[in-house]
Amino acid sequence: MKFDFCRFFSFVVILSVLVCPQSQANNSAQSEVEQVDVSVRLLDMDDEIHQQPLRSYQQLLTLENTFIDMPKLQQLWWLLRKAQAENLLYFYSNFNKTVAQAVALIDTDTPAKIKSNLYIFQGLTLRRDAEYAKAALIFRKSMTIAKAEKLTYLFIIAKQELAYTKSLTELFELSLNEMQEAYLEAYALKEDFLIAIINETYGAIYGYMKDYEQSIEYYQKALNTYERLNYPAHVSEAIYGIAATYRYWQKYELSIRYFELYQEKLTFTPNTDISFFSAYGLGMTLAEKGDCLKAIDVINHALTLNGLIDYNAELYKQQVHCFIIMGELDQAQTSLTKAENIFISLPELVGTEWQLEVIKLAAELAHARNNDRVAFQLSRQYYEKYNKLQVENSSIRLTSARAAMENERKHIEQALTLQRAKVNALEKESMNQQELQNIYLWIFILCSGVIVITVITIQHINNKKMYAVSIKDPLSNLFNRRYIFEYLSDYLKDTLIEKTELSVILLDIDDFKAINDEFGHPFGDVVIKKIADICHEVFRNEDVIGRIGGEEFLCILPRTNEKQCKVIAERLLKKISKQTYLKKPGLQITVSIGIATFSEVSSSSETLYLHADAALYQAKRNGKNNVVIYQ
Ligand code: GH3
Ligand code: MG
Ligand code: MG
Repeated sequence: MKFDFCRFFSFVVILSVLVCPQSQANNSAQSEVEQVDVSVRLLDMDDEIHQQPLRSYQQLLTLENTFIDMPKLQQLWWLLRKAQAENLLYFYSNFNKTVAQAVALIDTDTPAKIKSNLYIFQGLTLRRDAEYAKAALIFRKSMTIAKAEKLTYLFIIAKQELAYTKSLTELFELSLNEMQEAYLEAYALKEDFLIAIINETYGAIYGYMKDYEQSIEYYQKALNTYERLNYPAHVSEAIYGIAATYRYWQKYELSIRYFELYQEKLTFTPNTDISFFSAYGLGMTLAEKGDCLKAIDVINHALTLNGLIDYNAELYKQQVHCFIIMGELDQAQTSLTKAENIFISLPELVGTEWQLEVIKLAAELAHARNNDRVAFQLSRQYYEKYNKLQVENSSIRLTSARAAMENERKHIEQALTLQRAKVNALEKESMNQQELQNIYLWIFILCSGVIVITVITIQHINNKKMYAVSIKDPLSNLFNRRYIFEYLSDYLKDTLIEKTELSVILLDIDDFKAINDEFGHPFGDVVIKKIADICHEVFRNEDVIGRIGGEEFLCILPRTNEKQCKVIAERLLKKISKQTYLKKPGLQITVSIGIATFSEVSSSSETLYLHADAALYQAKRNGKNNVVIYQ
């Protein structure tokens, strides 16, 4: 909620006035306080003036004799408030004077709020004198000041006054556009009063455009708000608008009812001049209804009141119409001339429908005088001008309607483009992000893959190495006992392999203990390695050789029968016995060999080994360095 400084300050001032003891000595201080009080009150009077214009006006007048002593700013505020009240009370001649006086006081130091407000009032005075172009200029000036100082409230009021002024010279579409803008701004401000005055102006403009239903609807909306706010001057204005609209709509009964209501509501002001408007409305309505006798009376009465000049023209026109009907042709002529003269004095109204109607009436009068040639000429003149006006109006309307639509379209397009750009930017950003994420993901996957493959490979290599190590005898680099027996047993279990030709050789170094004892254990190792090398040389690649004990070797020879095996064993025996040892020249080392071949009785790894061992035992018993085949 906005903090209302003015109210707060006036409260403080009033409080201080009440609390401070009043004494003669304090007079100057007191008058200073009063000065401040007056200024604050002047600033804060807006709502009060709207609700009770007469009472506020009377209060303002009590300050009139202090006017000369007031500071200039206070003088301006006082004049402004007085003008405001006068405007609401229909004290138009006073209003004009007050506004002129205040405008004359405006200088470079005058606050924008006062200037903008006073120019709106000046515009009103000009408009009431039918100076539409000048009024429009001054409303624009007010708008410029209000806009520069961000005085939105005044800006909107000036804008809608400008729009209404334009509608008076029939620039309906243009004024509707501006009204719409003003309405949106007022709506944004959430100012009910502003929205109501705009609705009222909409009512007037739609009335001029002959869209009476809309007009009544808008007036009614405005009326509801004014009634709620308790603004009597505005209430009567809206009622007047409704009455006038019903009149144009030719709903005369309703119109007369509202004009009467208007008359009732006018009691808030002591001004009798204002009865001009009710007289005007009633007179016009009665005439249009065809009740010319009553109408002439009311119109004559209205014309004696201090009415607006262009309204008087309308009254004269209506008189012409009635006088023709009543056969009072001279009087009709007099009224016609008066109407004509008024329009001649108002250049802004020349060429409008209102002025053209004078020509139409002149034609009617000529016709009534049986001067048909003149009547025809005038009639033709009227219709030509009228048609031209219609065409102009419609083309202006079309152009401005198109411009308005174009404007709207552009706005929407701009908004959409902006929106789309934002969406695109967001999409692009999210795509970039996505792409980046994808890249990171791929990098992660690749790295993980490489790591996994590397780990697996290393593991595999290690496993292979470990396996190779685990199945090998480190000294001889032949397979170890566990592997060779597993191999033999797996080989025999494999149903796909033909086993009939399988032979095994069991080899044992002769008197190895003695070699060890004589030449030392390391030399014994050299001998083991040497014999392993010889085995590699003699056996085929597919033969599998293992060291199964200290100086005992088991060799598996697939696809080798007993005979072939014996040949190989003898070759091996010979080669070993012929082997010379560098450090022990003349030393002969021999081996004994037992052979077992796959058969019904030697069909498992155990039996083959046992049988080969038995043959080896036999070879040892035969005196060593020989080959025995198990029988
Ligand atoms: P035979 O001719 O009857 O086979 O007699 P032998 O001496 O060869 O048999 P014996 O079983 O009595 O001796 C085997 C010796 O082999 C006993 C042990 O010291 C030796 N030996 C066992 N493993 C190794 C080894 O890895 N290196 C060395 N240098 N000697 C070993
Ligand atoms: Mg042995
Ligand atoms: Mg031995």
